[in-house]
Amino acid sequence: QVLKKHNFGAGPCILPGSVLQQAANAVVNWNDSGLSILEVSHRSPEFESVVLKTQLLIRELLNVPQSYEVLFLQGGASTQFSMVAMNFLQGRACGAYLDTGYFAQKAIKEAKLFGKVAIVASSEDKDYSYIPDHFETPSDAAFLHCTSNNTIEGTEMFSFPETSAPLICDMSSDIFSRTINVRDFDLIYAGAQKNMGPAGMTLVIAKNEFLNSVKHALPSMSDYRVYRDNQSMFNTPPVFSIYVSMLNLLWLREQGGVTGIQLKNHKKSELLYEEIDRNPLFYGTAMPAHRSKMNITFKMHDPSMEAEFLRFAAGHGVVGIKGYRTVGGFRASLYNALPLSSVEFLVQVMQHFEKEKT
Ligand code: PMP
Repeated sequence: QVLKKHNFGAGPCILPGSVLQQAANAVVNWNDSGLSILEVSHRSPEFESVVLKTQLLIRELLNVPQSYEVLFLQGGASTQFSMVAMNFLQGRACGAYLDTGYFAQKAIKEAKLFGKVAIVASSEDKDYSYIPDHFETPSDAAFLHCTSNNTIEGTEMFSFPETSAPLICDMSSDIFSRTINVRDFDLIYAGAQKNMGPAGMTLVIAKNEFLNSVKHALPSMSDYRVYRDNQSMFNTPPVFSIYVSMLNLLWLREQGGVTGIQLKNHKKSELLYEEIDRNPLFYGTAMPAHRSKMNITFKMHDPSMEAEFLRFAAGHGVVGIKGYRTVGGFRASLYNALPLSSVEFLVQVMQHFEKEKT
């Protein structure tokens, strides 16, 4: 395989080469069926078994209890911002939100369309460089919403709030990167396009009891119960995204599952943070205790050098490290499929640049 660049993109992001190859084969001739995966009926027994297998893999990899549903939706994590509120906030006193950055704020904005929002804590005072703790959830909150990994700001929650309110978590950018205890949550959602597969499907893992607490009528496509009651096939699901996610989750299982990949992810992020802390040209933007292992954010002491470093890195085949437009600097995303060798390479590029400049 002739691939390719060192892809540090934040999402859609790098997928394993073997998965891309299998996906490419399936586009032309899926399992020797004489049909492309793109032209089979989603109601065919072959594709129904893909859905089932993907759900089972997710249950296995994340240790999902039987009392939870595994659902495939569409519309990205952004649709979940409003869907969560339509289902669980409407008609209730308030929804509690932990404001840890750009995507948390987007969730808050959408929720306000459907009811009262209580922001229990915010790290906006320090540019979202940390995860607040020590906060109280209002006793009448219908849920507490948090974001496990802040993709843009480069912070990650390494512990989750203990609260009597149902806990809802946006895990878009760190699901499958580390072990979690699904029982700590009532609903988890994530867009596929980081550690799961290609953009298109949105994963929801929800406690059945929590879904049953919804009593009001909702548009079908915004009603979790409809997805549950129709095996995620109420309408045409994102067939290709689900299929490639299945391939990618099989790959993850071969890596030793989530515990296996977690060790590798730890090593990768340690290596890069070490260099950021050592190299006199750079500094990390997130507070050390809250540094994400998925999205490593950093800047240069001399911002006028940043464009040059980007060009220098690109010249060496390092792509996707430009920081999000609102925060600037750099962001290297170290998702599951990114090999350690790419991180080692980026470190060398940073050292090389340092030599040229000092
Ligand atoms: N939440 C988080 C934490 C994200 O990283 C993203 C996308 N990068 C979103 C929500 C929005 O996801 P989508 O583009 O799938 O709507």
